[in-house]
Amino acid sequence: MPRIVYLIHLDRPLAHARHYLGSTDDLERRLHEHEQGNGSKMLAAVARAGIPWRLARTWPGDRAWERRLKRYKKSKRLCPFCSAGAHGRMQKP
Ligand SMILES: [Zn+2]
Repeated sequence: MPRIVYLIHLDRPLAHARHYLGSTDDLERRLHEHEQGNGSKMLAAVARAGIPWRLARTWPGDRAWERRLKRYKKSKRLCPFCSAGAHGRMQKP
């Protein structure tokens, strides 16, 4: 199975985190686990805090790609929900 790297956007921040990045070879099953608060310590905390989240984006990729994206600090720029908000605040000339 090809591996998928996925970005989850939290509707409210958890501590300072606004996104969760992970990888899986079965995205549907993984998202279902996350909905139950399983599969990730962070998303378990998100579920306990009652924070809604959305799948923001996916890439075909492996763990090396996942690590590369995790090192990329500007995760907002990767997220269509966040970058849409930033564009909305920009003033037109
Ligand atoms: Zn976002």
